[in-house]
Amino acid sequence: MNNVWEEAKYNLQKAAEIMGMKDDLLERLSIPMRFTEFTIPVRMDDGSRKIFTAYRSNHQDATGPTKDGTRVRADLTPEEIKALSLFMSIKHGIGNIPAGGGKGGIKADPSRMNEGEYERLIRGFIRKLKPKGAWVDVPGADIGTGKQAMAWMLDEYEQITGVHCPAAINDKPAILGLGGSKGGFEATGWGVAGCTVEASMELGFQPDKTKVVIQGFGQVGSITAKTLFEHGFLITAVSDINGAIFNDHGLNIDALLEYSGSTGTVMGFQGGETMDGERILEKECHILIPAAVQDVITGENAPRIKAKLIVEAANAPTTPEADTILENRGITVIPDVLANAGGCIVCDFERIQGLSGDYWDEEEVHRRLNKRMMTAYQEAKSVMEEKGISMRRAVWVNALAKIVEAMEIRGWS
Ligand code: NAD
Repeated sequence: MNNVWEEAKYNLQKAAEIMGMKDDLLERLSIPMRFTEFTIPVRMDDGSRKIFTAYRSNHQDATGPTKDGTRVRADLTPEEIKALSLFMSIKHGIGNIPAGGGKGGIKADPSRMNEGEYERLIRGFIRKLKPKGAWVDVPGADIGTGKQAMAWMLDEYEQITGVHCPAAINDKPAILGLGGSKGGFEATGWGVAGCTVEASMELGFQPDKTKVVIQGFGQVGSITAKTLFEHGFLITAVSDINGAIFNDHGLNIDALLEYSGSTGTVMGFQGGETMDGERILEKECHILIPAAVQDVITGENAPRIKAKLIVEAANAPTTPEADTILENRGITVIPDVLANAGGCIVCDFERIQGLSGDYWDEEEVHRRLNKRMMTAYQEAKSVMEEKGISMRRAVWVNALAKIVEAMEIRGWS
């Protein structure tokens, strides 16, 4: 299944079968409630004008205002944006976040634009989208947009409306007047680590005897490694795009973070030996955390994976074929939509803080995040046990049950 929209609908269909979802509701959830395609004219620095295509998909709003990211990528497709908006509905359901699913995007390559062109593109996105505010549709960041882009989006929105409203845009810088939340950078890694600790306890793993292998040492992988290291786990191998390093007695993650922070890679770190980056997934360990790119655990390598627990920090790291193999081998998989939901949960905290004007310190954000992640994990586990299904199916069923309940009680079916 190469088309991400087809894959999203496949997961929806499978969960709907388990739930016995009414046909009209399944049909409704299989099509975004609203999908907008529009153009953004941008004046380039050489004096020419370029037209960029943009999208915004609002999957459903029975559970609250549609919310989330804006992806800027040269090969972006409308199907990708539709699929991501459905995933956001699911993630919000999992995290008990009162929001529907939203996703936007611009077909452009930021690396080929200078700063002024990129700023005009981002501001143009808001001018042409005309987002309807904090209680209707809230854009956030994704690949190709970061804190600076979201600050421009908020500024543009506030210039248009003449009203300060930090909750109208997500993922903003955590500085006075911009309304961002502390802990936004760490959120996803903290959430992945929280799920890992919880699942390890259930499997009877003792942290100081538990070997963890992490593919990818960027924002998510490095925070996950640091948090698990602080919990006493043995992080025995990590990799990045350049290759992998290992130490069977455990890598010193504090020293590695300092090293990779200055060199830009984990390779060459003195506290470990090098190994083939491709092979890291098959290395002897208790827990494997793919935190890099999609489709790395495949039908080909799944039979050789040694881990007893896989926590999907990356989006879609496991192909459907591999998923079946892992399930048959009795390997526990915490699926991406649950494991990496920490970022969405802190986005919700950002909204709550923006609406109330009461901003929390990092400790408070981390404490509340852990509580929400544990609730989401335990809810999914109960559904899994009650229905005798995999965790992946259980998180979809659990989230969809909440969405369907909201639709039915509103009288939409
Ligand atoms: P990042 O760019 O900060 O880090 C990615 C890491 O993966 C880097 O260390 C990079 O060198 C490494 N990498 C890239 N290709 C690789 C390969 N083929 N083999 C091994 N390592 C490779 O990205 P991130 O923000 O840490 O995101 C990682 C994953 O988590 C992505 O799948 C992303 O979609 C997902 N995710 C991220 C967030 C978030 O809040 N950042 C939220 C949800 C999901």
